[in-house]
Amino acid sequence: MSDSIKVALLGCGVVGSQVVRLLDEQAEELAARVGAPVELAGIAVRRPQRHADVPTELLTTDPAELVARPDVDVVVELMGGIEPARDLLLDALKNGRSVVSANKALLAEEGEALAAAARESGADLYYEASVAGAIPLLRPIQQSLAGDRIRRVAGIVNGTTNFILSAMESTGAGYADALEEAGRLGYAEADPTADVDGYDAASKAAILASLAFHTRVTAADVYREGIRDVTASDIASARALGCTVKLLAICEQVDTADGAVVSARVYPAMIPRSHPLASVSGAFNAVFVEADAAGPLMFYGQGAGGPQTASAVLGDLVAAARNKVIGGRGPRDTAYAHLPVQSMGDVRTRYHVNLDVHDRAGVLAAVAGVFSDHDVSIATVKQEGGQRDPGHGGEDDAPATLVVVTHEAPDAALRATVEALSGLESVRGVASILRVEDLGRPVSALGGSQ
Ligand code: NAP
Repeated sequence: MSDSIKVALLGCGVVGSQVVRLLDEQAEELAARVGAPVELAGIAVRRPQRHADVPTELLTTDPAELVARPDVDVVVELMGGIEPARDLLLDALKNGRSVVSANKALLAEEGEALAAAARESGADLYYEASVAGAIPLLRPIQQSLAGDRIRRVAGIVNGTTNFILSAMESTGAGYADALEEAGRLGYAEADPTADVDGYDAASKAAILASLAFHTRVTAADVYREGIRDVTASDIASARALGCTVKLLAICEQVDTADGAVVSARVYPAMIPRSHPLASVSGAFNAVFVEADAAGPLMFYGQGAGGPQTASAVLGDLVAAARNKVIGGRGPRDTAYAHLPVQSMGDVRTRYHVNLDVHDRAGVLAAVAGVFSDHDVSIATVKQEGGQRDPGHGGEDDAPATLVVVTHEAPDAALRATVEALSGLESVRGVASILRVEDLGRPVSALGGSQ
């Protein structure tokens, strides 16, 4: 057995405390798997008084000093946020310390700088836990599918929003009530912005797109919409169409006339109930990966939680520690493809548009004309309400609802259509718009008319 591998742990919260527990409980097995004991050199926290269950001699409030200690082999970062994590990890990597992190925000923003620092010093950089918690996803994409060509990675990567949408679906509750329930049960944070506005999912989409398409994609490149505007009636409309609403992170490599591009986007969308992602409910995550030779693959499990995320962190720690023992290196991030990121306006999607209209003769023709003017083909139209009460004085403008589902068209054309519709005299208002994602069509067909 080699000398022990010394670990600097930055952060001892929900995930870090579980890493400490598992390192202790599984010390013997981990040592056998690594070929050396894995020991904590220190644990950096902000408020040591809150960590009575951790040996006091390990605690420090000076993470920079801990990272710089000469006996540290691996730095495990579970603090979150961009700074000071970024500087600490860059320093660690530059000094040859391997790094394990669960920090999606940091990896999505500074992945390139971190990967470069790791490459230069020969240190390892692992971040399996940063996307979809316990689910082994990055390693399969990066390693198991390294010989294949990935076309699409699409999934549910945020448990909070999936819990809220599932609750709206199963109880008929509105967004605000479902969010409150999620907070009460511990599935939503006091400030839910990162989750409900799609920032968390966008960071994960950036990481997934970067690995799947060998192209550096940052969170800022990811088109993002959250779930705040999803209404109970959207969910009911989806059900009527045989669909359900999910917050999706979609990453695709699309072949256009001008060459291959990467699309990375996050928004709530209707998906057919028959799609496997439709049955993923509550706080679970699931990701569909489609590759040319492998075909469709689905990864499913718990996307968050202390022990679950710690499992992924420990997997990375064992890999980094083993490499230290045998003098090897883990896989490098590859970003050789340098594909451009497709603008959202060029992304081809379908729309479900709910219009409040005056039930007058010619309204349908006027609405259809606007779609046609923008080259957006209508798949179905359904009218609800608008029955005039003969005793009501015979006024010719009883309110009605038109539900239009389009065929696939560029997002820009769909947006322009909706804008023009809201200016129509016969349209009282656009009640809601949701994209419809088929996810079944081959990605090679997506470049079609571009
Ligand atoms: P957390 O419970 O808030 O814990 C953060 C820890 O970092 C705390 O121990 C805190 O110290 C320490 N810390 C923060 N800033 C520090 C600083 N400047 N100096 C020293 N210590 C500092 O966070 P978490 O939920 O464990 O998440 C950790 C990371 O894992 C994040 O990047 C998160 O995105 C990622 N992640 C979490 C989950 C999950 O289910 N929670 C899932 C996947 C990924 P004090 O305890 O003294 O405040």
